[in-house]
Formats: sequence, structure tokens, C-alpha cells
Amino acid sequence: MTDSLNIAIVGAGIGGLSAALALGARGMNVTVFESAETPREAGAGLSIPPNALILLKRTSLCDKIEKITTRSQGLTRRTSRGELVLPGSPTVLSYQIHRVEFLEMLLGEVKGPVRFGHRCAAVEDTPTGVRLIFANGAVCDVDVVIGADGIHSVVQRQIGLAAHPTSEGIVAYRGLVPSQKLSWGAELRGLNMWMGEGRSFICFPVSQGRLINIVAFVPSMRDMEETWYAPGDVRALAAEYEGWDSPVQDLISALDQTFRWGIYDRPPLPYWSRGHVTLLGDAAHPMVPHFGQGAGQAIEDGFALAVLLERARRDEIPARLNAYQELRLGRTSRVQAASRLAGRFYRSAGSDRAEQAQRSQAWMSAAEWIFPHDAEKAALAIL
Ligand SMILES: Cc1cc2nc3c(=O)[nH]c(=O)nc-3n(C[C@H](O)[C@H](O)[C@H](O)COP(=O)(O)OP(=O)(O)OC[C@H]3O[C@@H](n4cnc5c(N)ncnc54)[C@H](O)[C@@H]3O)c2cc1C
Repeated sequence: MTDSLNIAIVGAGIGGLSAALALGARGMNVTVFESAETPREAGAGLSIPPNALILLKRTSLCDKIEKITTRSQGLTRRTSRGELVLPGSPTVLSYQIHRVEFLEMLLGEVKGPVRFGHRCAAVEDTPTGVRLIFANGAVCDVDVVIGADGIHSVVQRQIGLAAHPTSEGIVAYRGLVPSQKLSWGAELRGLNMWMGEGRSFICFPVSQGRLINIVAFVPSMRDMEETWYAPGDVRALAAEYEGWDSPVQDLISALDQTFRWGIYDRPPLPYWSRGHVTLLGDAAHPMVPHFGQGAGQAIEDGFALAVLLERARRDEIPARLNAYQELRLGRTSRVQAASRLAGRFYRSAGSDRAEQAQRSQAWMSAAEWIFPHDAEKAALAIL
């Protein structure tokens, strides 16, 4: 037995806070450092896939998550004209949630301190561990640093990596519509997708059905910052979906505002861990969102890491962080690739039938290995 490890997490997004929850539950002392002055998340919905749900439901969040989410069994896919696409997706349970409500729930549940207004500027090795230096002059010495600081990760650069995000050539328009604005809004259930040539459109209820989240993927040659906050033009969005099935047009007409988000990923990194420092979530493996797995994989990372660091001696830390990298890099790289393929499938209505059938089959097979995974069990198996 050893005294508890002191762990610093850089970034209080979904990845960082889920990791804090998992590490704290296994007895480690965790401090989260976030550059923003106050909690920050987008007014948008998030689908929590079954592979993340299985982990969250083992924690103290279990009852709360049941109360504030809506559910779906698989994904209903339609063509742009509204015809059902068969076969549907495997019948897997996922929960839908408002991102702000999810972040607040995580913040309320993590045991250690969350220090806002702390922008990490540098990470340095020390004789016994690692030192974080912040832009506000603060310094913190710990046993382990976890970079959960998103796609533009500073921690990633501090461990010698310099990876650049790659645009998928599309942007996502996102928005929330009060369900009472639509005659059929209160009846909407589950995850719904319309697929067309070069475009796809998704909607699902959040906030116990009071709001409908929409995500509309359209081609764009314009590279943009990966930000939640670039405002979009509702009329330009409506023009992109002219002639599509009526629920798509109803939803766009009911939008008061929308914002655009560039869709990026990055080729897998050669490594994630160096000495006492590692990465998770978008800092390690940003992925395009077409399998709804960005947050899902970040949550898997944190829970796997917690299993591997529990009861580790200080001299075992580098080996444990390498084991984490070995365990997770392969799976997240496969999910990254499957997510790109899924996007092409959703937007390939104009391609020939054989090609579409092949893409549909690849999508079904990926769903079968992505969703049932248990990241804690996989980590326990390599200890
Ligand atoms: C259109 C779209 C839809 C999506 N839908 C889904 C979905 O339905 N399901 C799903 O699972 N995923 C989805 N995703 C992906 C998911 O949103 C991301 O993968 C996930 O939020 C990444 O979490 P993270 O904590 O790793 O990074 P982030 O959310 O980027 O958090 C990083 C945090 O680090 C902070 N930070 C940055 N630099 C520093 C620094 N130097 N010092 C201190 N703090 C710092 C930031 O302020 C931020 O709070 C979607 C993505 C897109 C684009």
C-alpha cells in the first residue's frame, strides 16, 4: 500500500471532469485546472453512448443521470425525402443530455477542487514528479499530470508532440428548439437522422423533452476555428436543406439562432504518455462526431486510467501511463477511422447502391464493436 497519488488534470471539459470523478472514486487526490474563469459549455445537446453510460452508471452519478436525460434505442435513419432506411442501427440504449446540464452535474460530483482561471503554460519534470506552471503565476507540483485540454492541447506540445487538426471539409450547424414551438415537438423520441447527398441532419430531445437539439452537417471549403461560438445564419442553413423532409424544414424554421462548428480530427498520435504526463479526450484523439463518440471515448479514457493508477506506487507511474497508452491508443484510433467512414456513409445518398450497401455494412459492424465495450474491464484485464 502507498499514500494516495496527487493528480492534476488540465481542462475541466467533459473529459477532464469525468476523469476526476473516476480517479477520485478510486481514492486519488485530484485537482482540476481550467483556463476559463467560470464553467463553460455550449448550449447544445450531447448523446452519451452505451460504452460511456455503462461507466457513468457505476458512479455516484447513476440516479442523477437517470433523472435529467432522455433515452433512445438505436438511431432511426431516413432519406432526405423521409423514407425509412433499413436496416436501422443495432438496438442499443443511449442517453441524451444538454451539455450544460451534464457539465454542471459532473462539477457537482467531483471530490477535489476545480480551479478556474488557471491557464496551463508549461509542464516540467521534477526529480520526483512533475510541475505545472500557469499563466497567472501559480505553480503546482504533483505525481501525475493529465492533459485533458482539448484539440489545441498545450500539454500535448509540452510532451514533444506537434499535431495539427485536419478538417473534414464540412461544418456543423447546431441549435436548440423549444419543443412547444412545433405541433409534433412533444412527441419526438430518440435519435433521428436524415441522410442526403453531401449533407446529413440529426435531431433528438434533451432537457426532458423541453428542447430539441439539432445538428446539421453541410459541406464547407472554409476552414474555421473549432469553436462552439461562431454564429451561423439561419437563412443560409435553410437554403442548404431546401426540399428536405418536412420535420427538417420545420425545425430549421423554428430556430432563433444557430452556430457553426468546424469538424476536425487528427491522425493518431505516436504516443500519449511521457514520464509522469499523459493525455486524454480530444487532446489525445479528436474525432469527427458521426458515431457520437468524442465525449464517449474521453470518458472511457478517464475510467481506464483510474483503474490503471489505483494503488500504483510512485515508481510505477511511467509504466502505468504507458500501459494506459497501449490499451487506449489502438481502440481510439479505430473509433476515429470508423467515425470518418460513418460521416461518408451518411452523406453518400448519391453514390451507387453497391458502394452504399458496403458503407452501411461497415457502419453496422463498427457499431457492434464500439458500443458494447467496457473500458474498466479492459483495463483490469491488463493489470
Ligand atoms: C457537432 C459535434 C457533435 C458532437 N456530438 C457528440 C455526441 O453526441 N456524443 C459524444 O460523445 N461526443 C460528441 N462530440 C464530441 C465531443 O463534444 C468532444 O469530443 C468532447 O467534448 C471532448 O471533451 P474534452 O474534455 O476532451 O475536450 P474539451 O471539451 O475541448 O475541453 C477542454 C477543456 O480544457 C480547457 N483548456 C484548454 N486549454 C487549457 C489550458 N492551457 N489550461 C487549462 N485549461 C485549458 C478548455 O477551456 C476546456 O474547458 C461532438 C462534437 C461535435 C463537433
